[in-house]
Amino acid sequence: METVGELAPSLRILLGPGPSAVHPRVLKALSTPLVGHLDPEFLRIMEETKDLLRAVFQTKNALTFPISGTGSAGMEACFVNLLEPGDEAVIGVNGVFGTRMKDVVERCGATPVVMEAEWGRVFTPDQVREALSRCRRPKLVALVHAETSTGAWQPLDEMASIIHNAGALFMVDAVTSLGGCPVQIDAWGIDACYSGTQKCLSCPPGLSPVTFNQSALDVLRKRKSKVQSWYLDVSMIEKYWGEERVYHHTAPISMNYALREALRLVQEEGLTARFHRHQRNHEALAAGLAAMGMALAAQEGHRLWTLNSVTIPANADDAAVRRQLLEEYNIEIGAGLGPLRGKVWRIGLMGESSTRSNVLLVLSALEDILRKQGHRCTPGAGVSASQQVYSAG
Ligand SMILES: *Cc1c(COP(=O)(O)O)cnc(C)c1O
Repeated sequence: METVGELAPSLRILLGPGPSAVHPRVLKALSTPLVGHLDPEFLRIMEETKDLLRAVFQTKNALTFPISGTGSAGMEACFVNLLEPGDEAVIGVNGVFGTRMKDVVERCGATPVVMEAEWGRVFTPDQVREALSRCRRPKLVALVHAETSTGAWQPLDEMASIIHNAGALFMVDAVTSLGGCPVQIDAWGIDACYSGTQKCLSCPPGLSPVTFNQSALDVLRKRKSKVQSWYLDVSMIEKYWGEERVYHHTAPISMNYALREALRLVQEEGLTARFHRHQRNHEALAAGLAAMGMALAAQEGHRLWTLNSVTIPANADDAAVRRQLLEEYNIEIGAGLGPLRGKVWRIGLMGESSTRSNVLLVLSALEDILRKQGHRCTPGAGVSASQQVYSAG
């Protein structure tokens, strides 16, 4: 084998569906010396991380910690711990991640009761009522807060009472919302929730913050069967992340350093300011795209600040535009998935990537590339419309 060269990745501008840009302080945390996973210093780092996570999740839940693994590991952890074979679970399917949830539910030996909406649209409380009425004894209802595959933003605040009245738990995927827009676990009555590190928390991929309230824990304690996954069995993992500090698996030390630093950055900025920044940059991008004759694809009034899916103009070459953005501008954006392949681009403005300069850059890069492909728009129209949003205060 030939000698492998030094690692030299390009400095990309990450405006896709994740990972997002990582702050140098987080990169520095990754390169600091290791301690053992039972070292008293690491135990303190774990406690601080749990406290910082409770603050972003806006919860008092004692059991709030990062699962070792990416967002999908958090998804799987929530389902395998709360579902037993034969249980019914209502799943909202309106994109890739609802579809993935259904697959995980089936692998638990449980029965998914599917509630469908067109990709890009959100669910109403009535749709949840209707789906619950099709169940005998629903164990839980799972919804995706921020559907990264479509850019749709699911309202959650009116769902808990409907779900709890049916005797079910309320589970939420907050992978692309946590740290970018409000996620109010306690106020919205969410019983179990998972997220990821590489979206709006701006940390590398590798951990999945989760939170379980007492009702979810009661369900876990009353299980008749063992949790199907040894690695993700929260009844064992909580003995390491809780008081007892019993070894289960070696915590990914460096990733936990990184998450703690990323959460410190969230704390320093403050949730309100951080959400406002995400909102403002989304509004400026949307205004710029509109001025260039491009429309956002998700349901009006339910568009995420963190992920913008935009309809590809009729005469544009999807793959060529994305390739040119990457090669000529170092900008990564996302392609459409599933039924949206070739129909939309997905422009992420998550965490450290959500900046005014990135918004203006991607608009002018898109204008340059699209105009060369024959798309008609007034030079500078996108950037100018976007600047107007910023100068409006
Ligand atoms: C990215 C994402 C996931 C999966 O996370 P991975 O880190 O890719 O495993 C799950 N749900 C949503 C909404 C996501 O955006």
